[in-house]
Amino acid sequence: GTEPAQRCREIKIVLLGDSGVGKSSIAQRYVTDTFRPHGESTIGASFMSKMIVNNGSPCKCQIWDTAGQEKYHSLAPMYYRGAAAAILVYDMTKKSSFEKLQKWVDELKERGPEGIVLCVAANKCDLEEGREVEVAEGAEFAQKSGADFFETSAKNDENVGRIFTTLVTNVQRKS
Ligand code: GDP
Repeated sequence: GTEPAQRCREIKIVLLGDSGVGKSSIAQRYVTDTFRPHGESTIGASFMSKMIVNNGSPCKCQIWDTAGQEKYHSLAPMYYRGAAAAILVYDMTKKSSFEKLQKWVDELKERGPEGIVLCVAANKCDLEEGREVEVAEGAEFAQKSGADFFETSAKNDENVGRIFTTLVTNVQRKS
């Protein structure tokens, strides 16, 4: 063929956000296409990987989940060291989880990898009746932060795949 041999790239993607917003559930939905309704965060299941082919380019996504560490102390910078992309997750039925995201954006800007690709996920969009954060608020915050924005449901598998393909596309475009 005329195509050059394609190297398999590895991309580290980190999930950030309050405890309980659905970080593990998003990773689990993406990697195993399952959902645990009363999911206790599996301690130790903090790392998953998935091979994908995006726009013809093979890529191995290494997905890092905090495994609940954010409950006890602030995350060590090594968590996001070397990350090509970050998913900033809030629960759209919990305003306080949305308000916390600014702290993560500030920390990434100060201490995170240069040029890290960002995406905001407003999770639990299947719980429309409990909505506390309007779409426009979430979208505006994402835009100010230089991030893409999706409303997601790990439960109903809404937009979860799109987060990852969007991030990988943006990372591949930069390299
Ligand atoms: P984490 O602490 O951020 O990793 O959050 P988890 O993934 O452990 O999820 C916390 C709780 O929210 C669990 O009971 C999940 O089953 C639930 N959950 C996660 N994603 C969704 C979602 O999209 N919709 C609904 N309704 N519940 C969700």
